[in-house]
Amino acid sequence: MKLIENVLSLFYPRLCAACGDALQQNEECICLNCMLHLPETQFHKEHFNPLRHVFDGRVPVEEVTALMSYKKANNVQKILHHLKYSGEKEIGKKLGEYFGGQLITEERYRSIQYIVPIPLHPKKRRKRGYNQSEWIAMGLSKGMGIPYLTDVLARTHYTDTQTRKGRFARWQNVKEVFEVQNPEKVKHTHVLLCDDVLTTGATTEAAIHKLLTVEGIRVSVATLAATTL
Ligand SMILES: [Zn+2]
Repeated sequence: MKLIENVLSLFYPRLCAACGDALQQNEECICLNCMLHLPETQFHKEHFNPLRHVFDGRVPVEEVTALMSYKKANNVQKILHHLKYSGEKEIGKKLGEYFGGQLITEERYRSIQYIVPIPLHPKKRRKRGYNQSEWIAMGLSKGMGIPYLTDVLARTHYTDTQTRKGRFARWQNVKEVFEVQNPEKVKHTHVLLCDDVLTTGATTEAAIHKLLTVEGIRVSVATLAATTL
């Protein structure tokens, strides 16, 4: 098997999702050099970090954090593009696990009982073949040693791509797209909502709103990247 892999990699080298260089045999998705230079925010280390202001006056949240800061043309943009549009779902798991390992070292994150990924509409999920947030949840789950649930939050309305809309229009667009299923599973628990990127926070806010309809629930947020910094 190893021989076949080696021969194949001569013709189809596996490439780093960040820098594009060929990966070494012991590297997965992102090369070691890029892993060492990820633009990490370290926001999980402080409760009152700049990112939590995204939800100020909008929804109550426990903790808010993102692994990396997203800037146009930095490696993070390339990584997320590979994760979402090139079928490289394993990136989500790898970075999720790496992030989860950091979160669990912080006391404030240790009361989290479940990880809940932001769902895609079934139609969109079929088209893409996977939900990238679910792969991030898988990684976080491994890194933090707690389960993830994909049957609590559902996306019931299909929304068009939102990239060119303003904040209010986006909010109008997303506010009724989520639905809570099996609320008894997360009653009186602390859940970590996860996604690939936090921009205006409109989608995340809508999801938190729905989750907060569950009795006694507390919600924290962790994304791989954040633009609002
Ligand atoms: Zn690299």
